[in-house]
Amino acid sequence: MADCLFCRIIAGEIPSKRAFENERIFAFHDIQPGAPTHVLLVPKRHIAGLDNATAADAALLGELQLEAARLAKELGLANGYRTVLNVGPDAGQSVFHIHLHLLGGRHLAWPPG
Ligand code: AMP
Ligand code: ZN
Repeated sequence: MADCLFCRIIAGEIPSKRAFENERIFAFHDIQPGAPTHVLLVPKRHIAGLDNATAADAALLGELQLEAARLAKELGLANGYRTVLNVGPDAGQSVFHIHLHLLGGRHLAWPPG
């Protein structure tokens, strides 16, 4: 999608600090980190949000989570981490290309704000 920020990051039109990439997934460091480690994992194919995903996307959504777990190990988050998917205004979703947050490197309070 031409006017989607994360599609433009995936295409390399907007610079990002890449953490991982394969044929289906792109992962990059959040520009405004909420924790010492804050990575965003996105599917390369544009899906606006979790509410727009279908059963056909189930494997892709699972792969995002499993890749987050692998990255967490690679980035040294041995003490724990959190994966978060914000959906809609109450959750503060601000970019409408589905993205999984991987946060770690400090104690993460629960419940979140
Ligand atoms: P959300 O609020 O769940 O939609 O998350 C959007 C995230 O994208 C926020 O944590 C932003 O800091 C992050 N973000 C926005 N623009 C950029 C960018 N150009 N590069 C990296 N992360 C970004
Ligand atoms: Zn997009």
